[in-house]
Amino acid sequence: MSRPQPPGTPEIAVRGLRKSFGANEVLRGIDLEIGRGEVVCVIGPSGSGKSTLLRCVNLLEEPTAGRVFVGGTELTDPDVDIDAVRRRIGMVFQQFNLFPHLTVTENLTLPQRRVLGRNKTTAAQVAAENLRRVGLAEKADAYPASLSGGQQQRVAIARALAMGPEVMLFDEPTSALDPELVGDVLAVMRKLADEGMTMMVVTHEMTFAREVADRVVFMDGGVIVEDGAPERVIGDPRHERTRHFLSRLL
Ligand code: ADP
Ligand code: MG
Repeated sequence: MSRPQPPGTPEIAVRGLRKSFGANEVLRGIDLEIGRGEVVCVIGPSGSGKSTLLRCVNLLEEPTAGRVFVGGTELTDPDVDIDAVRRRIGMVFQQFNLFPHLTVTENLTLPQRRVLGRNKTTAAQVAAENLRRVGLAEKADAYPASLSGGQQQRVAIARALAMGPEVMLFDEPTSALDPELVGDVLAVMRKLADEGMTMMVVTHEMTFAREVADRVVFMDGGVIVEDGAPERVIGDPRHERTRHFLSRLL
């Protein structure tokens, strides 16, 4: 699925990205590179533009200016087949958005069949593999409403993985969960990271960021204020804005 590309090409590259909603400039010039297999956590106060940045990386939002590349393909090229590129990007939201009237397996097979044109048997096999991967093989025939929030979010992760993405984007995947359900979801994400998935994760889970991320990016007011190793950005922040944000989390 990945295209031939020169060694060292970042898996995700964002260059001079700006995004305005009307007069409100929400992203004010973002430059970011994420290497293959790298895990980058994005932190920052509410309204700082984290979700907008993530949504620009798969063109759910159209950038006002700047360029976005995934796997060496420019998404912001007007001639690109955006649906084809988007298939290479998995996205997991705070709200799981499972279809309530479909079983867990059907939730995983439907997009594979509709978007990738897989046949029923193949789609079911891939669904089963990915349910195993998130520890929910025994829930294959359950309906979403019978699952805990943490289990539903793991199904949403399996649904994204079943599409065979090259990169995974997570937007506060544990923020809607009761505290006791957060750990299982983070464990699945940690496993994905260990398997070498390229991941961009917006989160307030500082322990996860410290232990799993290769880099932490702190955003405020639509710019990247700091970008570095977790122990540096979280443990020894250089900027007052980062210090202030972190002190309020603890
Ligand atoms: P974060 O995820 O860091 O909380 P967001 O990216 O969601 O921040 O939002 C940043 C700013 O952009 C906020 O002021 C928000 O109101 C605004 N915004 C986000 N999405 C839209 C939209 N679709 N239309 C108008 N304003 C938006
Ligand atoms: Mg957000």
